[in-house]
Amino acid sequence: MSIKENLSSILSTLPESVTLVAVSKTKPISDLQQVYDEGQRIFGENRVQEMTEKWENMPKDIEWHMIGHLQRNKVKYMAEYVSLVHGVDSPRLLAEINKQAEKYNRTISCLLQVHIAEEDTKFGFDEDELLALVENEEFKAYKHVKIVGLMGMATFTDDMNQVRREFKSLKSLYTKLENTYPNFTILSMGMSGDYKIALEEGSTMVRIGSSIFGTRK
Ligand SMILES: *Cc1c(COP(=O)(O)O)cnc(C)c1O
Repeated sequence: MSIKENLSSILSTLPESVTLVAVSKTKPISDLQQVYDEGQRIFGENRVQEMTEKWENMPKDIEWHMIGHLQRNKVKYMAEYVSLVHGVDSPRLLAEINKQAEKYNRTISCLLQVHIAEEDTKFGFDEDELLALVENEEFKAYKHVKIVGLMGMATFTDDMNQVRREFKSLKSLYTKLENTYPNFTILSMGMSGDYKIALEEGSTMVRIGSSIFGTRK
């Protein structure tokens, strides 16, 4: 199937309330442009330099999401334009995003990454760290970051019961916080291999790459 056909078949399975992030990492601009021409305006990348090159060379009405693990020293290169950072996994990173966003007089929306995978290779906060962060007065005072929800990645496994369990735990944490924090509107969970389960478990934003653009090298 073509990229265009892949996109429309994915879109046909998403409820209207769910946002699609087209994950275009490693793919050439000509591929992104095909998806753009179909009306897609949200793209996800996991490397700052690659994202910045694409931002410079593509239409300016695209929203760029940083979905990967982010090093603090790279934040300055995307602070001018990035619209959502999915993988905030430390207080120091949040502080740096606040500092760099201030230089552009912007407020950057961020998702806190939660460690939900039972395997321990993935980044993110555990529940206690997360609660401590959102209640921290210093962080609440930041004017240039806005925490708008949570992001998580399930274990890479064929065991779909495990994946479902992990998504359920993220959703239940999200529900707790959503009641206290009115800014919480986004629950980013689900990729090509597991987004259908993520939708069943309450995802509001899916990050899909290979099912749209084909496999990556
Ligand atoms: C690459 C990536 C995706 C998309 O993965 P696919 O399996 O290609 O859909 C989603 N989220 C994150 C954080 C990624 O790095």
